[in-house]
Amino acid sequence: MLDIPSDLLSDLDPAQRDAVRATSGPVCILAGAGTGKTRAISRRVAYALETGVVAPSHVLVVTFTDKAATEMRERLAALGRTGVTAATFHAAALRQLRHFWPRVSGGELPTILESKVAMLVDLARALPGGYRYVAVRDLAGEIEWAKARRVGPTRYEEATEADGHDGPLPARLFAPLYSRYEAAKERAGRIDFEDMLELTIRLIEDDAAAADEIRARYRWFSVDEYQDTNTLQQALLDAWLGGREDLAVVGDEDQTIYTFTGASSEWLTGFTRRYPAAHVVRLETNYRSTPQVLDVANRLLAGAPRVGGGPPKRLLPTRPDGPPPIIRQFADGGDEETAIATETRRLIDTGVPAEQIAVLVRTNAQLVGFEAAFRAARVAFQLRGERFFARPEIRRALDAVRSARRGRSATKDDAQADDDTPAAPLTDRLTAIWAAALDFRPDVVPPGEEARQRHAALGTLLDIGRRCQTEDSTAGLDDFLAEVDRRSADEAGGATGVGVELLTYHRAKGLEWDAVFLPALEEGILPIRQATDPAEIDEERRLLYVGITRARVHLWLSSARVRDGRSTQRRRSRFLLEVVPVGVHSRGDQAADARISGRGGTGGHRAGPTGGADAAGSPLFEALRAWRLERARADAVPPYVIFHDTTLAAIAERRPRSLADLAGIPGIGPTKLDRYGEELISVVVRAG
Ligand code: ATP
Ligand code: MG
Repeated sequence: MLDIPSDLLSDLDPAQRDAVRATSGPVCILAGAGTGKTRAISRRVAYALETGVVAPSHVLVVTFTDKAATEMRERLAALGRTGVTAATFHAAALRQLRHFWPRVSGGELPTILESKVAMLVDLARALPGGYRYVAVRDLAGEIEWAKARRVGPTRYEEATEADGHDGPLPARLFAPLYSRYEAAKERAGRIDFEDMLELTIRLIEDDAAAADEIRARYRWFSVDEYQDTNTLQQALLDAWLGGREDLAVVGDEDQTIYTFTGASSEWLTGFTRRYPAAHVVRLETNYRSTPQVLDVANRLLAGAPRVGGGPPKRLLPTRPDGPPPIIRQFADGGDEETAIATETRRLIDTGVPAEQIAVLVRTNAQLVGFEAAFRAARVAFQLRGERFFARPEIRRALDAVRSARRGRSATKDDAQADDDTPAAPLTDRLTAIWAAALDFRPDVVPPGEEARQRHAALGTLLDIGRRCQTEDSTAGLDDFLAEVDRRSADEAGGATGVGVELLTYHRAKGLEWDAVFLPALEEGILPIRQATDPAEIDEERRLLYVGITRARVHLWLSSARVRDGRSTQRRRSRFLLEVVPVGVHSRGDQAADARISGRGGTGGHRAGPTGGADAAGSPLFEALRAWRLERARADAVPPYVIFHDTTLAAIAERRPRSLADLAGIPGIGPTKLDRYGEELISVVVRAG
C-alpha cells in the first residue's frame, strides 16, 4: 500500500504529475492514445484523497463502460483507496433515480426497457404503405439519435432540418411515431436507457431538495473518454455540478468513435472556452506501444484533417524497439482468417499469453469467420460482445431452414424427388428459403444501418453454406444445420473461456494488448460502405487509429482480394495505403511477411524499392512504378496491363490531386479511373 503522496507521483512523468497535483478547479487533460490519461486520472483521485482535498464518498469518476469502472475501482484499491464511486453515466443516474423516485413520485421506479424494438413493432405497423417495412431497429436508432440530443417529438422536425439529418422516415411521419412510442412506454410503466439520464436531469432541475442532496454527496468529478460525451450526458454532468467547477475531464479527440450516438468531441475541445480558468495538461509521451507501432499510428494521424490546420499530432515513443508491423494481403478472406489463427498460435508458442492477443473487426458479423478459424487451429478464444448465432435474424434464418427441412421429409413425394433428382446446390436452396421467409436477397443491400447489418449477417451465414458446398458439392440442408450447430456450440463455449479476444473496434476503447490483429482493411469494410461524407470517413479513420494504438508490441494489418465467395475484387483500404510506405507492402499470398522496415522519422515517405535512375527520372515517377509493380503482383497481371510508362510519366508530370484531374490525362479511361484512381492520387499526394 502506498501511504505518502510522493509515492503516488514517483512513477509518473512531469506532465502527468502536473495533472495529478491540480486537485481543484477545472482540469482538462488532452492527450493521445496510451499517454497515461487513465493512469493520471486514477492517480489524481488517489492523490486528492491522500492530501485531504476531498473525501472518498464525495468523489464521482465517470467512465465509458462498466468494465472501465471496475478497473478504476481496482486501480484505486491497489493504491489503498476505497469508497469512491466509479460508474458510467447510466449507472450513476440509475442509482440516483432509484433512491429519489419513491420520495418524489410515491411509487417504485418504472422498470427499464432493455430494447425499444418490441414496443415499436406495433407502432410501425400503423405506418403508411411503403414505410411499413422500415427496419424497426432503425426506428429505435432514430429515437436514440433524438434523445441523445435532448430532442423530444415536438422538436424533432425542426431539429432534423437544422442538422441536415436524414432519418429512416420522413420527419413528419417519424415525429408522431416517436410521440406514440413515448406514450406507449409511459402506459406500460417503463423507461428506456435515455430516460434514465433525462429523468435524473429533471429530478435535479425540478426538485430542489433532491438537487441539494445529490450535490452535497458528489462534489468532485472526473470523466474519462470525455471526447465521446453526448449532449444528454453533458446536461447530466452540468446538473450534477450545479455551477461548481471541481471537474477533471480526460480525452483524445482523435479517438472520437461514437458520433453515431450523438457524441461530439466539441465538449472536450471547447472545455477551455466554457471554463477559461481550466488547468490544461497535455501528455505527449506514449508508454504503451513500441516505436514501430507508433510509426504506423502517426502515419495515419498525419493524413487526418486538422481542425484549425495545426501540425499533425504525434505520439512520442518511450518503449524499446519491437518487431516491425506485419502487412499482408491474401487471395481470399478465408486464407486471411486461417493465417491469423496460425500466427496467434505462433505467438502463444513464443510466450505471449493468449488473452494478451486481440483480433479487432469493424462489425460483429465479421467475427464468425474467426471463430471457425480459431477452432480449426485449436487456439482458445473469447468473444467480447454479441454472439453471432444468438442474433435474432440468424435464429430466424435457421428456423426457416429447419422448417423447410421438416416440410420436405413430411412430404413423401418430395423426399422421393430429393433422392432421385440431383438437388439444387445448397447455397441456392438456402437463398430460396431466406428469400421466402425473410425477404433476403444476397445482392440487394437494404437501406438503414440495422437492416444492412442484418443483411451482412445473413450473408455470413450463407457463406457457411458455401463452405459446406465447397467441401462437398452434394451437401444438403442437414449438413448445413450440422455445421451450424457445431459452430454455434463452439461459439457458446468460446464466449466464456479465456483466450485470444475477438471484438469490435468500438469495444476496444481504452484497452491494450501485446498483439493486435487488424484484418479486412478493405474499402467497404474499413471505411465501412455506408460512410460516405467526409465526417463519416474521418470517424472510420479514428476507428483504425484506436485499433492500431491498442497494440503494445505486435501489430498485424491485412486485407483480402476476394471474400464471402464472391468474385468481386476488393480494394485495400485507403487508410492501409496511407500507412504503408509505397513499395514496401505485401507481395501477395506466398509472400513472406512484408514488413514496414525501420522507424520512419516523420510519418514521411520512402522511395520505391528500385531507386535507380529512369527515363522519366523523377522520384514521383519511381514511386508510381513501384506502385504499379506492387499492384501488378497483387492482381497477378503484367505491369503494362495496368499502365504504360508513358501514362505514368504523364501522371508524374501533371501531379493530379483529384479524380477529375486524373481523368484528364490520356490513357486513363473510366474503368482505370475507377479501379486505380484513388491509389494513384494517394501516391501523388504522398510524394508531396
Ligand atoms: P487510451 O487513450 O488508449 O485510453 P491512456 O492515455 O488512457 O490510453 P493508459 O491506459 O493510462 O493510457 O496508459 C497506457 C499504458 O501506459 C498503461 O499500460 C499504463 O500503465 C502505462 N503508463 C502510463 N503512464 C506511465 C508512466 N509514466 N510510466 C510507465 N508506464 C506508464
Ligand atoms: Mg484511457
